[in-house]
Amino acid sequence: MKLTFLGTGTSFGIPVVGCSCQVCKSGDAKNRRGRHGLMIEEDGRRMLVDTPPELRLQLLAAGVDSLDAVYVTHPHADHLHGMDDLRIFSLRSGSPLPVHVPEEYEDELRSRFSYIWDPEAHDQPGVAVPDLDLRTFVDRERIEIAGFSLLPIACPHGYYRSYGFRVGDAACIVDAKEIPDDAVSSLSGLEVLILGALWYGDPHPTHLNVEEAVAVAEELGAARTYLTHLTHRLEHSDLERRLPNGVFPACDGLVVEC
Ligand SMILES: [Zn+2]
Ligand SMILES: [Zn+2]
Ligand SMILES: [Zn+2]
Repeated sequence: MKLTFLGTGTSFGIPVVGCSCQVCKSGDAKNRRGRHGLMIEEDGRRMLVDTPPELRLQLLAAGVDSLDAVYVTHPHADHLHGMDDLRIFSLRSGSPLPVHVPEEYEDELRSRFSYIWDPEAHDQPGVAVPDLDLRTFVDRERIEIAGFSLLPIACPHGYYRSYGFRVGDAACIVDAKEIPDDAVSSLSGLEVLILGALWYGDPHPTHLNVEEAVAVAEELGAARTYLTHLTHRLEHSDLERRLPNGVFPACDGLVVEC
């Protein structure tokens, strides 16, 4: 299985508009981070996790020419508002693209992008609207997505719950404040764990900071843990030096196999 980090930044993206801090001004491409997107591939099958605002740019950078399905973790704008960029895939294939969303957020997603599910919008001559096949999933009920078997794991994230998941020997948990105790056993024996983390210090009410993420990484004991959803308080090479063995900073374009 091949995992490609499409975007590894927090909701503002890095550089932050108008910010002149060292990280935002850095010439190191590893400090330029789009909003959260992840691609999972195996045997020619390709699943996208989240549709961030930079989706088109991320798909171009990763050379993606087709998609089999999409998984949405939660409806925050930084994970969702590139949804319209999916239209090229249904337009090209001529068939609806499956988009899997948490059941509790189906109505919100339909109202956020009401034109996508409005038959009149599709009937307008000369207008290309994404043709999406919305499917729902619930916490801890295994689902098949593009031939991948996923176990969704809903994690507390303030007002929302963010649906991480395990697929094979990999797991992705972004925008979580904690891992539910009864999900820990489902996350044992991982080869790759992807965890969201914002910064060192100052605990955040709805996200892990780096110290908390490292503690989760140690508790779960994955062979390799990659931190993503990083803010401009974290400089890539500095973070790389400070993290313990087996924990690494992700960066846009990073590919890992497991
Ligand atoms: Zn986010
Ligand atoms: Zn900055
Ligand atoms: Zn979020």
